[in-house]
Amino acid sequence: MSNKFFETPITYLPGVGPKRAELLNKELGVFCFADLLTYFPYRYIDKSKFYKINEININLPYVQIIGNISNIQIIGKTHGQRMTADFFDETGTIELVWFKGIRWLKDKFKANEKYVVFGKPNVFNRKINIPHPDVSLLSDENEGLGESLSGLYNSTEKLKSRGLDSKGIAKLMKALMLKAKDKISETLSEDIISKYKFISRDEAITNIHFPKNPEILNKASVRLKFEEFFFLQLSLLKQKLIRIQKFNGFKFNKVGDYLNSFYKNELPFELTNAQKKVIREIRSDLGSGKQMNRLLQGDVGSGKTLVALMTMLISLDNNFQTCVMAPTEILANQHFETFNKLLKNSEINIELLTGSTKTAKRKTIHEKLLNGELQILIGTHALIEDVVKFKNLGLVVIDEQHRFGVAQRAKLWKKNIIPPHILVMTATPIPRTLAMTVYGDLDFSIIDEMPPGRKAIKTYLFFDSKRLKLFGFIRRKIKEGRQIYIVYPLIEESEKLDLKHLMDGYESISRDFPLPDYAISIVHGKMKSKDKDFEMQRFIKGETQIMVATTVIEVGVDIPNATVMVIENAERFGLSQLHQLRGRVGRGADQSFCILMAAYKLTAEGKKRLETMVQTSDGFEIAEMDLKLRGPGDLSGTQQSGILDLKIADIIKDAEILKLARSLATQMINDDPFFKNDKNEVIFKQLKNLSKNKANWGLIS
Ligand code: ADP
Ligand code: MG
Repeated sequence: MSNKFFETPITYLPGVGPKRAELLNKELGVFCFADLLTYFPYRYIDKSKFYKINEININLPYVQIIGNISNIQIIGKTHGQRMTADFFDETGTIELVWFKGIRWLKDKFKANEKYVVFGKPNVFNRKINIPHPDVSLLSDENEGLGESLSGLYNSTEKLKSRGLDSKGIAKLMKALMLKAKDKISETLSEDIISKYKFISRDEAITNIHFPKNPEILNKASVRLKFEEFFFLQLSLLKQKLIRIQKFNGFKFNKVGDYLNSFYKNELPFELTNAQKKVIREIRSDLGSGKQMNRLLQGDVGSGKTLVALMTMLISLDNNFQTCVMAPTEILANQHFETFNKLLKNSEINIELLTGSTKTAKRKTIHEKLLNGELQILIGTHALIEDVVKFKNLGLVVIDEQHRFGVAQRAKLWKKNIIPPHILVMTATPIPRTLAMTVYGDLDFSIIDEMPPGRKAIKTYLFFDSKRLKLFGFIRRKIKEGRQIYIVYPLIEESEKLDLKHLMDGYESISRDFPLPDYAISIVHGKMKSKDKDFEMQRFIKGETQIMVATTVIEVGVDIPNATVMVIENAERFGLSQLHQLRGRVGRGADQSFCILMAAYKLTAEGKKRLETMVQTSDGFEIAEMDLKLRGPGDLSGTQQSGILDLKIADIIKDAEILKLARSLATQMINDDPFFKNDKNEVIFKQLKNLSKNKANWGLIS
């Protein structure tokens, strides 16, 4: 919606004063007409249907009832206060209940008036009630909106206190629609509209708010969902195109001694076909003269590190420096050691830079980077700092990408005149639909094959009654020479209590597995990194048999001799975290085990998560389930991109529409990359409009 009309501040709408405007801004992000117009209902109800109270049961989704209100009571003091009222018709009585907004509600209802109550029936103390119903005077209903199908708008307590409940918002919408009549312009080209039989934008927006009938509502929703996906894809693809045109990359056209001699003499095993394929894809990027921006996805243990190393050697062969950025010190240390080991017979100069690097050391690193002596730098966020300057940085490898913010990555671009090639590695399996949406502008490589000889990890769900059995099992495994992880949840919100659980757990394990037969390491995020590292090293060297830890070991730690992963309070972890944790075992030739310790009482969702873990070890299947259970909002790394801020479309439910949008957008960018074709002018205009308001994050993701 390009024209000025839609940019009009919301205060200019009749019925919106400064107070309401402020609330609409703060609570819903609605600033101007366009914002309100695209604030879509979250569901629809058939308002032609009224229920009698004796027909109500808690299985009904939403009900609308006419009746009287009496017996208003306020129970409790300020905290945990609630207000109840009886609501009755000629067939019976139910209770209405409010926990919030009591101050302004308590004097609102009159004994002799008929009200229309709308809400979701619930059960409490074996009685049916309706929490936080929408209540309006029956007489007001007569001036209602007239349609039998009505949209419901999400509101908040604050908005409701200013009369902007769902109905109040609908009223504003009606007022806006009257003003906006004939002003809503088309944003899709005629050929797309006619080919896919979309309804016009005007009709779609009118009907999404005030549907004339279910059929047209459906068409309106499809049209608007398509549009949302289409422009999202288009802008991602367009940005990728700009990036490719605008940014040259260093041309790595040589494969030289570093890679060749490593490949011939040092490679400890045959590469998997998937690794070979990915390396070919990377090589073709590096030689193209364009900057590489590639996301390398591969399940935990699939061998990404080796791919990274070989990519780095190509960079060295072309006389460029390279750096690896890891999200934690433990991981940076580990990479440093792995690379040192793999490159021990070469003359390559590698250093480690983290928050704990001493000042003197830091200084020499800085110097050696600048004069080009240092070839590979491995580190944490410390690498991004402005003082870290390279002579000739050609490649940046970012491990476990989801831990880094977009802005942080952007800084790496500036470490050379021409931006270095970027290889982002992630073990978080991203469902295809999400990948298309979030990483639409990155090239994509997948390692979809595990190194040979791996045995599937056996996963069991244990309740506390099996603890003795678990300890017996652990003893046996330790006798066989294996090592054990025991992981406790630690989340910020309950940090103190969690830390206590961890320490209690550590103490009880120390009692059950006493010295001198057993030695135990402990690692958690609150420890100094020096101590963390010390404990980690003891475990790596095999001096301790049990590692008690929080999720600090979630990513990347690679200790093949550790074959048992015990996860305490497993129900408190998310699926992708559980998958990551399990990925810490099963790295050697021995059979590995993952034991999920859970509370007896599980929520339905918690149960589903744990069952999923027992049933499958396929990262993609787990990711799809995770997405289903949690919705996309939580997925790591996506929040900050803001990209999933979809107004109407849903990447899971509307996957088919997404596919269509993606394919049409791709086709359009291929056929008409500069939008020279007149028929695409409307699309281009809308794209420009939309991108005006968006940060240019796509360039750097
Ligand atoms: P991730 O993808 O999780 O980073 P790593 O790179 O840490 O996985 O590799 C996991 C383990 O598999 C490492 O011990 C590594 O040495 C080993 N590995 C990698 N590639 C192969 C291969 N082609 N054949 C056998 N083992 C391999
Ligand atoms: Mg790794």
